[in-house]
Amino acid sequence: MTNIPFLQADSSNFYSGRGGNSIKYIVVHYTAGNGDTAMNNAQYFHNNSGLQASAHYFVDEHSVVQSVRDTDGAWHCGGPLESSHHPLHNICMNRNSLGVEMCSDIVGGKYTITQQTVDRTVELVRWLMDKYGIDVDHVVRHYDVTGKDCPEPWVRDESLWRKFKARLTAKDPIEEEIKDMTDKEFAQYMDRYLAAKANQQPHPYAAEAWAKAKAAGIVDGSKPQCPLTREQLVVILQRLGLIGK
Ligand SMILES: [Zn+2]
Repeated sequence: MTNIPFLQADSSNFYSGRGGNSIKYIVVHYTAGNGDTAMNNAQYFHNNSGLQASAHYFVDEHSVVQSVRDTDGAWHCGGPLESSHHPLHNICMNRNSLGVEMCSDIVGGKYTITQQTVDRTVELVRWLMDKYGIDVDHVVRHYDVTGKDCPEPWVRDESLWRKFKARLTAKDPIEEEIKDMTDKEFAQYMDRYLAAKANQQPHPYAAEAWAKAKAAGIVDGSKPQCPLTREQLVVILQRLGLIGK
């Protein structure tokens, strides 16, 4: 975890320095996004001022991007109490913590953190724990600080949070998770993967071509980031007039 790209949030979105406090806690969040990326989020906080929010790190399936330096305080776990659960209120604060945001997807109407994003987060948090001498009891959810429903999938299902915590101290946290999938598990995984991709927008480089292809009736405009099957390919070739003459 030594080559984390850094795109600093606008200076209006975080504290300069920590007011003499050391880093005692790592607070885990989710972005409440749908198919967002670590870089999307970092760019948003870089390009916009006065957001009253920020985080040190954003994590997606493939990458981590830093948005606020560890030596500065991000605005990630302040704010009003949102439920009666807040055991760390006024104990864990912006000034003595690091904020880690996990990108999310909406699958079947519910927020989900993909396995790959959880893997990346385990890797990042273990590295930060080691770097700052933070034990697993000081890795907490935003929920534990202000009662906010964050990360929502890990408040809704506490077992996912416990599993994540166990991996922070496991001997080999990534390897442990690797086991052969059954065909059924693989099919379920693909369904979840494709469902997570279904509502995404085309990447900027492809947006114009995608819009033109839709207007020309070559594609129906849905699922721009999903894979193409051979049968879909031949239908496209036919629509282009390249076969069937
Ligand atoms: Zn949060």
